[in-house]
Amino acid sequence: MVEILLLLLPLAFFAGWRASRKKLIRNQKKQQQLSGHFVKGVNFLLSEEPDKALEVFLNYPDIDEYTAETFQLLGDSFRNRGEVERALRVHQNLIARTNLNSKQKQKAMFSLGEDFYAAGMLDRAEGVFQELLKNNQSNKHITKAAVCSSLRTIYEQTQEWQKAIDATDCYKKSNKKKEGSSTATALNSKSLIAHYYCELADGALQQGKLNDVDVLIEKVKGVYKQSTRLMTLQGDIEFHQKRFKLALNKYLIAIKSDSRLLSMLFENLEESALAINDIESLQTQLLSLYKKKKDKTVYEKLLILAKKYGSSKAIDELVEKELPKEKLNIESIFNTSEYIKSHSENIDAEKGLELVTQSLSNYLQGVPAFRCEHCGYKMHDYLWRCPACQEWDTIDHA
Ligand SMILES: [Zn+2]
Repeated sequence: MVEILLLLLPLAFFAGWRASRKKLIRNQKKQQQLSGHFVKGVNFLLSEEPDKALEVFLNYPDIDEYTAETFQLLGDSFRNRGEVERALRVHQNLIARTNLNSKQKQKAMFSLGEDFYAAGMLDRAEGVFQELLKNNQSNKHITKAAVCSSLRTIYEQTQEWQKAIDATDCYKKSNKKKEGSSTATALNSKSLIAHYYCELADGALQQGKLNDVDVLIEKVKGVYKQSTRLMTLQGDIEFHQKRFKLALNKYLIAIKSDSRLLSMLFENLEESALAINDIESLQTQLLSLYKKKKDKTVYEKLLILAKKYGSSKAIDELVEKELPKEKLNIESIFNTSEYIKSHSENIDAEKGLELVTQSLSNYLQGVPAFRCEHCGYKMHDYLWRCPACQEWDTIDHA
């Protein structure tokens, strides 16, 4: 019996070897078929036939780590090209596969959320990101910060400010854990949350819910006290309650902190100053702000006030001093010219013309005289060939 077994041993070895070889050949054949399938899909992509490529990929039988990554990128690139419907089909197909591991599934889910967002289907996008957040608290592949950031963007679009605050908070906390608290990120989140609270406060103010406004103001103070929007909002609250002196002061604090706000707040500032019959004080404050910041908008608004409500010696001095020295923009020069015209008793015509000419000359010094018609590049001297796009004979007067 033992001899027979010994005799059968080589035969068993041979059978085993043959079976494994057959399996190897079968696997190789299968691999070749898959590769052929894959190459076919890539060829369709290269020959700009995305629908055919899509069909090949969607019917691709087996997905492994590498092909899953490729499909993922294929879907993303469809979305980046604005072909959201195709991107959705690829990512939905990926998620439906049963043999994806959790890393691949989470990545595909995140991409699907981005597809829905790009397609303007914000409800669906929110659903996908919320699910990712709920099911993957310790997700290594898609960071919680990335998911919260996407949710934040959605809530900004839908103007759901409290949800936007929560999402930003979640982003801030999870981002801190991962990268440490970089000052820029921390500041940015604070400023965003302050904006969202201010949006809520603006809404409450419009509805006359002043108690809610007070609560929200306190929240902004707690998050980002330096917010210039907070200062503006405090001015709006006073303005809304017709406490014009306080409104004027609050607005001026905001403008002193950031003079760019003047264009936005000018109408309310002017109305507040008129209501308390104190345009002069507003002019004085703006004049001192201009001397400090040299902001051209402040200069323009000063001239507008002077033209409407009467000039002062200080404004005349400012015009005579600044016009020949400062490089003003064309709107400021125009406003100055108008001002001089309407105040000829202060600055005579000859002097006025001299000032405006000097100011225009300052302005023209920095203006390029020529421009390439092909690419728009501007230059001071005429050239045969554009230095930017290298085209010949495309230079014309700017
Ligand atoms: Zn050019």
